[in-house]
Amino acid sequence: MSDATGFSQLHWQHELLSSIEVGIVVLNKDFTVEVWNQFMENHSGLLPSRICNTPLFSHFPEIDEAWLRAKADPVFSLKTPVFLIWEQREYLFRFGSTRPITSDSETMFQNVTMFPLPSTTGEVERLCMLVYDVTDQAMGKRRVERLNEELKVMSRVDGLTGLYNRRYWQERFDYTFKLAQRRNKPTTAMMLDIDHFKAVNDTYGHQAGDKVIQALAQVVKNSVRETDLAGRYGGEEFAVILTDSSLDNATKVAERIREQAEALTVEHDGQHIRFTVSLGLAEFNQQHPSSLAWLELADQALYAAKQNGRNQYRVHGKA
Ligand code: GH3
Ligand code: MG
Ligand code: MG
Repeated sequence: MSDATGFSQLHWQHELLSSIEVGIVVLNKDFTVEVWNQFMENHSGLLPSRICNTPLFSHFPEIDEAWLRAKADPVFSLKTPVFLIWEQREYLFRFGSTRPITSDSETMFQNVTMFPLPSTTGEVERLCMLVYDVTDQAMGKRRVERLNEELKVMSRVDGLTGLYNRRYWQERFDYTFKLAQRRNKPTTAMMLDIDHFKAVNDTYGHQAGDKVIQALAQVVKNSVRETDLAGRYGGEEFAVILTDSSLDNATKVAERIREQAEALTVEHDGQHIRFTVSLGLAEFNQQHPSSLAWLELADQALYAAKQNGRNQYRVHGKA
């Protein structure tokens, strides 16, 4: 640019510093501010005349001084740039978000670059700091992460009962089986099925049937431990793996579920619905060739409970 256009180099450099949507700060080795552009002024409310020639840290108590000095050290000693990213610290300067209404964040997320400003003799006595507003990107990434988390939970959980769905339950069950093969702790598989459930549907309707399934799922949840693996295996069929649980303990759990189901009344459209469940148990042993073979034994015990009159539990291998 020539002076003839009335646009000196100093002038356009000043314009550039003012209009750019990036924070530009020049600091000397003591962290005294030498340049503070319009972006920094706008977001901090501090005029260059107030902050220049004063220590940066005296204006921003939120900045961890020791940390920033350590971070900036390679800029001076190795003359290399340094990057601070929002994933590690959300911001360096606590500025308000420019869109606090539409954005999920009240503060501005920032990426910061610090690079050396060598003098003509090559000494590095100053660094330049560029502060980028990355709030939109950060919020976008957080939203995607949250969504993925929700999808993951949704893909594992049965919508009606909140228990694990069959696919995920099976996956965890396979893992539990492998664990049981290596550990010497008793583990028991339990299958349960609502008695004469078709009659519940036929008498009270499908919605009422759903309520009964939900009520039983709640009983199951309340009867087992956090570490047990409970899932909805089919329509009105549930499967539970009781880890670190001897057969003796497992039969107590089964009897508790049976009793609670029998005592329960489910209300639907002013009607009072009662129901019972049958349960089958099979303890793990090293002879089981696969997880499914083990579960099959619990299913056989369940079948025996049905044959024997329902509303009871049966243990595989016991008369
Ligand atoms: P049993 O005592 O021998 O188990 O008799 P049952 O009538 O329960 O027999 P069965 O297991 O064959 O019947 C299950 C019924 O459950 C059949 C199906 O219509 C119903 N069902 C399956 N899934 C659902 C569901 O999600 N909601 C409702 N309301 N009913 C379901
Ligand atoms: Mg049934
Ligand atoms: Mg069934």
